[in-house]
Amino acid sequence: MNHKKVRFIFVTGGVLSSLGKGLAAASLAAILQIRGYKVRLRKLEPYLNVDPGTMSPYQHGEVYVTDDGGETDLDLGHYERFTDVSATKADAVTTGQIYSEVIAKERRGDYLGATVQVVPHITDAIKEKITAEVGDEDFIICELGGTVGDIEGLPYLEAIRQLGHELGKERVLYLHLTLLPYVASAGELKTKPSQHSVKELQGMGIQPDILLCRCSQPIPQDMKEKLALFCNIKPERVIAALDVDTIYQVPVHYHDEGLDEVVCQFFGLSTPQSPNLAPWIALVDRIRNPEHEVSIAIVGKYTQHKDAYKSLVEALIHAGVSNHARVNIQWVESENLEKNFEHYIQLLHSVQGILVPGGFGQRGSEGKLKAIEYARVHKVPYLGICFGMQLAVIEFCRHVLNLPHATSTEFGPSEEPVICLLTEWLTQSGLQTRGQGDDLGGSMRLGSYPCQLKPLTKAADAYGNSPVIHERHRHRYEVNMLYRERMEAAGLSFVGLSPDGRLPEVVEMADHPWFVGVQFHPELKSRPFTPHPLFVSFIKAAIQNARIV
Ligand code: GLN
Repeated sequence: MNHKKVRFIFVTGGVLSSLGKGLAAASLAAILQIRGYKVRLRKLEPYLNVDPGTMSPYQHGEVYVTDDGGETDLDLGHYERFTDVSATKADAVTTGQIYSEVIAKERRGDYLGATVQVVPHITDAIKEKITAEVGDEDFIICELGGTVGDIEGLPYLEAIRQLGHELGKERVLYLHLTLLPYVASAGELKTKPSQHSVKELQGMGIQPDILLCRCSQPIPQDMKEKLALFCNIKPERVIAALDVDTIYQVPVHYHDEGLDEVVCQFFGLSTPQSPNLAPWIALVDRIRNPEHEVSIAIVGKYTQHKDAYKSLVEALIHAGVSNHARVNIQWVESENLEKNFEHYIQLLHSVQGILVPGGFGQRGSEGKLKAIEYARVHKVPYLGICFGMQLAVIEFCRHVLNLPHATSTEFGPSEEPVICLLTEWLTQSGLQTRGQGDDLGGSMRLGSYPCQLKPLTKAADAYGNSPVIHERHRHRYEVNMLYRERMEAAGLSFVGLSPDGRLPEVVEMADHPWFVGVQFHPELKSRPFTPHPLFVSFIKAAIQNARIV
C-alpha cells in the first residue's frame, strides 16, 4: 500500500438496513472524483458465504460480476455506475473469504504454533484486504455491509477502529449513515434512533466524524445542533440525505448539502472551486423530462424482488435517457404467464419491447418461452440476456426447426440438447474444464470475454461496428454448435462468436425488426453517461415499434 497518500473513508450504517449505504458511498465517490481525486470503492460483507454466487436472488438480489470474474454484491454495480471505475475481485471482501484464508494458513502452519483468534488474526486479515492492491488512489471508500450492532459486523468494526488508530485522523474518516424517521403524530423527525446507533459505534471505540441522515424532509438547524451535541460531532458535519425521486440526483443533493466540502475540510484539502456537477444535473433533467415513453415487459422469475434485476433496470433507464424516453417496465412473473397465458396476451400486445433476462432452472421457463414466441411471431423487439438467449434458441428450435424436444441440459438429460453444459473453454490463463458434479460456487464461465461480431448485423450496428467487444459472463451452459447450420438456414444467425469460433455469444433473427440474444450480461457495463449500445439500440427499436402501432 502507498501509505503516504491514500485516505480511507469508512461508511457504516445504523438504525436499519436498506438506507442506501451503497448509493451514499458511490455518490460521495462521484463528487470527489469530479473534484479531481482518484477514488476506489470497496465493500466489506459480514456474511459467511465466500461470495454471493450461490445465494438465492430472493435473499441477496443481483449478483454483480466484475471484469475479472468476481461474483459480488449489487452495490458494486452502483460503484461502477457512479464512478465508471471497474471494480475487481479485491473490492468485494466477505467473512467467508477471510475465514477460509485464515484457516488455510493455520493448516499450513503459517501461524507458528500461535492460538488463532478473531483478534488479531481475523482483524489483521480484514485490514490486509482493506489496504490490498492500493496504488495511487487518493481515497478508498469502504462500505461495511449490515447495520451497526450486528454480531457478524463486530470484527470489521474492530479492524476499521484499529486502522483509524494506526493511520490517524488525517488518513481515516468514519461516516455513519442513519435514519431520522418522521413521526406523523408528533409532526417531526426523530433523532433518538440515530443517537443510539452512534452510541453503539462509540462503544466499539469508533467516533463517527460525519453523520449522514436519511430523512423525508429537511432537518431543522436546531435538530442538527442537538444531534451534533449528543453524538459528539460538529453541527456542519450533520448532513441531510433527503429522499429524492431518482438515484442520480443523490450526488447533486449531497453537494448542495455540503458533504464533499466537509470531507475535504476534514482531510485539510482546500476547496477553492465548486465541482462541476452540470452533467449530473443535465442527466437528472433528462430523466425527469422525457420526450417519449415506451413500455418494456420483463419476463422473469424474480419479479417480486426488484433487487434481483438492479443493473437491468438501470441499463434501461440509461438507454431511455439516451433516446429521450422514459422506459416503463411491466414486470411479468413467468410462472403466472405460463399458467394463464390468455390473461397476459393483452399486456404483451400493449408493450413495445419484450426482454427475458438472465435466470436459472426450469421453473417458469415455459412462460418465458411463450413470451419469446409472442415476440418472434408478432415482430415485437426482443432482447434475450443469457438465459433469455438460451430460451430464444430453444423456442426457435422447437417451433421453427420442428424439434419439439429441444431443451437445455440444465433441465435434465435431453434428446435434443440445443443448450448444453459447457465443459471446456479458453481463458487468458489457459483452458478451463468443468464436469457435471463440480462445486456450484465459482464454477461458471465468469467475467469478461472477447466476442467477435459479424459485420452488417444489428449487433455490429449497435456497437458502432466494433469488430471485437468485451462483455461479462455468468453461466454454465452454452448454445450447442451442432445445431448452428440448421438454425442459420432457418433465419437465426450466430452473429457473435468467441475469437476461437467455438462459443456462440450473440444470435439474431434476420426477418424481424429487432430480435437479439446475447450469452453475456450487457446490463453490467451500462453507465448513466455511457449507456450500453445494445440497450440503446433495443429501446430505439421499441420507440420505432411504438410509432408503427
Ligand atoms: N442458467 C443458465 C446457465 O447457467 C443461464 C445463466 C444466466 O442467465 N446468467 O447457463
